[in-house]
Amino acid sequence: MAQVKSCQQCGTGIVGRSDKRFCSDQCRYQSNNTAKRQNQEEKRIQQVNTALRKNRSILRQLSPKGKTTIPRQYLELAGFDFRYLTQFYRTHRGNTYHLCYDYGYLLLPEEKVLIVNWQPYMEAT
Ligand SMILES: [Zn+2]
Repeated sequence: MAQVKSCQQCGTGIVGRSDKRFCSDQCRYQSNNTAKRQNQEEKRIQQVNTALRKNRSILRQLSPKGKTTIPRQYLELAGFDFRYLTQFYRTHRGNTYHLCYDYGYLLLPEEKVLIVNWQPYMEAT
């Protein structure tokens, strides 16, 4: 009994060699492009996740007890990347906390930062 195979891209039945996965060059090309794009997307997600985790661990290291004022430069020296955040929290007084998971910071005058722990009220809308 002949094995019925179908194209992985479009589902059309494949005639010919049993090791063929696609019905045409066009389908093979399309499938490769999709895979490539998915890889690039995954790679980007992983890069951002890594940056966020690194930022979080720097905040944690520099503020083991959760509330510390330090020069902003300490974060920079530790390799903190200010572009990556998970959340903003704006206080009633108009201050904006920049959060990385369960840690955050507030920029203070004179190039300083206040590092804080995330609090449940920061989730309230
Ligand atoms: Zn096909």
